[in-house]
Amino acid sequence: MAVWLGVGLQCVGGPELVSYVNTLQGTESKGDYSHGNTYPTIAVPYPMHSYSAQTGKNGHGWKYQYPSKTIRGFQQVHQCSPWVNDYNVFSLFPEVGELAVDEETRASAFSHDNETAKPHYYSVKFDNGIQTEISPTERCGHMRFTFPGGDPAWLVLDGYTGDSHIQIHPDHRRITGWVHNGGWLTPGSLKSHFILEFDQPFTAYGTWENRTGTVQAGNKEAEGKGAGAFLQFEPGSTVQVKVCASYISPEQAEVTFQREIAADQTLDETKAKAARLWNELLGRVRVEGKSEADKATFYSCLFRANLFSHKFYEIRSDGSPYYFSPFDEKIHNGYMYTDNGFWDTFRSQFPLTNILHPTMQGRYMQALLDAQEQCGWYPSWCCPGNSGIMIGNHAISLLTDAWAKGIRTFDPEQALAAYKHEITNKSPWGGSCGREAHKEYFELGYIPFERVGEATAKTLEYAYDDWCAYHLACMTANKEYEEFFGKLIYHYKNVWDPAVGFMRGRMPDGCWRPDFDPYEWGGPFTEGNSWQYTWSVFHDIRGLIHLVGSEEAFVAKLDELFAGSNEYRVGSYGTVIHEISEMLDAGMGQYAHGNQPVQHVAYLYNYARRPWKTQYQVREIMSRLYNASEKGYPGDEDQGGLSSWYVLSALGIYSVCPGSDQYVIGSPMFEKASITLESGKVFTIEAVGNSPENVYIQTATLNGHPLTRSWISYDEIMQGGVLKFTMGSIPNKARGTGDADLPFSVSEP
Ligand code: CA
Repeated sequence: MAVWLGVGLQCVGGPELVSYVNTLQGTESKGDYSHGNTYPTIAVPYPMHSYSAQTGKNGHGWKYQYPSKTIRGFQQVHQCSPWVNDYNVFSLFPEVGELAVDEETRASAFSHDNETAKPHYYSVKFDNGIQTEISPTERCGHMRFTFPGGDPAWLVLDGYTGDSHIQIHPDHRRITGWVHNGGWLTPGSLKSHFILEFDQPFTAYGTWENRTGTVQAGNKEAEGKGAGAFLQFEPGSTVQVKVCASYISPEQAEVTFQREIAADQTLDETKAKAARLWNELLGRVRVEGKSEADKATFYSCLFRANLFSHKFYEIRSDGSPYYFSPFDEKIHNGYMYTDNGFWDTFRSQFPLTNILHPTMQGRYMQALLDAQEQCGWYPSWCCPGNSGIMIGNHAISLLTDAWAKGIRTFDPEQALAAYKHEITNKSPWGGSCGREAHKEYFELGYIPFERVGEATAKTLEYAYDDWCAYHLACMTANKEYEEFFGKLIYHYKNVWDPAVGFMRGRMPDGCWRPDFDPYEWGGPFTEGNSWQYTWSVFHDIRGLIHLVGSEEAFVAKLDELFAGSNEYRVGSYGTVIHEISEMLDAGMGQYAHGNQPVQHVAYLYNYARRPWKTQYQVREIMSRLYNASEKGYPGDEDQGGLSSWYVLSALGIYSVCPGSDQYVIGSPMFEKASITLESGKVFTIEAVGNSPENVYIQTATLNGHPLTRSWISYDEIMQGGVLKFTMGSIPNKARGTGDADLPFSVSEP
């Protein structure tokens, strides 16, 4: 079979890359144990709407769990994490025989043997013989239901958990209406105005309400809590449904419908278009060598690395973008993105996106400033409204990282002024909007424990974020902000206790929090313990080495993290949270890769002149903790976070300090990887002699010139070229050990 490999490349034989993707990766998850907490997303890259089969109850965050035996709906979805649940959902469900509207009664048995789960196409055949197929577009979708003959065929539209309005138009084979549902992150006036268009006539219809179970045959219009509809078709029908939804208006839904799905378009055509989009995107990172299973893992991760943030803007008939703001609930011109928590994604997803999609990043960075104006605070954890959950003020990391990488679509002075406001005020929400105890932070130089929860984790991440602001000020020659933020970038040192050799909780009076236990989770830390958080000094690892005392002591401490005890104390959580369970199963000491705080740590050996130890550990992590199956992740995938870690690491690079222009070198998984950039240039990473044993870099060249550094720059990637490694089974302990080889740190070697 021939396949189009994307920008600037010709057709090459081989399987379509989208066929490597398993969208069931990570779906065997539950609240107390996560193999990813994903659902089988049916979507084009960075969509506004996605689709998924639904096994869980209406409103349950775990919408699809692999072990489930029945499906109760096919949803339009937007959710970026089960922990914040979904919003503006509605679902369709096919059935035969007697009409059953209730979600429990109608649920139908299925087997994974009769299921196909790809990004561009999902299909499942129930045990009762009904087949459902779904293919996506950016803001619409296409479903096809094939009913067995004999019994009456039904489609049930479920208005889900909130308010909804339904209007059936039998003459036009349409249902129109809106839904508003969701939780505490969903703005009160956010409606999804939808259009469902069917290609078969209705032989009967009516409305129902899922709160009461009331069914009204022959009724065409209903509004209320979970108002829905049902339609009957001829027995044995095949029914195609085109779905569209707008956050702006019913009129915009019509415009989008016309733009995205032609009147005579079949599901097979929608499927082919979506496959082409994914093959183009996946083909921009073409890997060679290794097993088919490794390619499946790589492309499944590359798929999930390219879903969030969701587009929140829509396109007028004249082609111009505009949106309903989830922040001020007004209509604005321009681009908007949401459904992302930056604590999860500043580390890997955005640094990967800066390589693959700089044009989109440019739009996104301006959208961040627009969102800040509309909200009064920078976005931090949005789904789609701002929430302030998790910690840090990481929007500045995105902005500085973009600027450092040449993305100049926004006003840096505005960005810095907004950031100064962010860190000198307390927001109405939690830890990642504004800065609680900011006065104490400026007076004491740390967030005092007990007055504020997760105080030491916050101090560490704030020091990094403030360095990002300082660095943006330096890059833009803004002396005022350089001076203001420059005083804050070493505050991480104020929570380092030399007596115990760890980052530690510190009380308002300057004393250390008593009874230090580096294995204790929570308290002054966030979803982790001191073993995991002590390394969160992204901008100044050399400064951290100085605190620890020496490179040897630093390396010994890292070694102990990976190979030492995996004991734990539940601490303030009071119970074993899923991140603890996942750490225990990973079998890598205190290295809890399933959660964010440690995800850069394997790369830190480079800063202490032991790059071969990084090379060993990153290959261990990739091989042991990832696969393409329903158990494919070692913890919450988190909006492309874990997937982007894998994609970057498999390429042999990782962004330890977003905001700098450097990617630190690890150990590539594949013998060859070619990245086709937006410009059409190609950056190729070769690893000659690579194998599961040959994980160690012997020598390296960049465009034919010897490269001894443990990092490469963004510009070197974006100019195209060849980074060539020779791999071996024995470490080369001479390479990457000079001062000039070390990656960026604020402090000198
Ligand atoms: Ca997480």
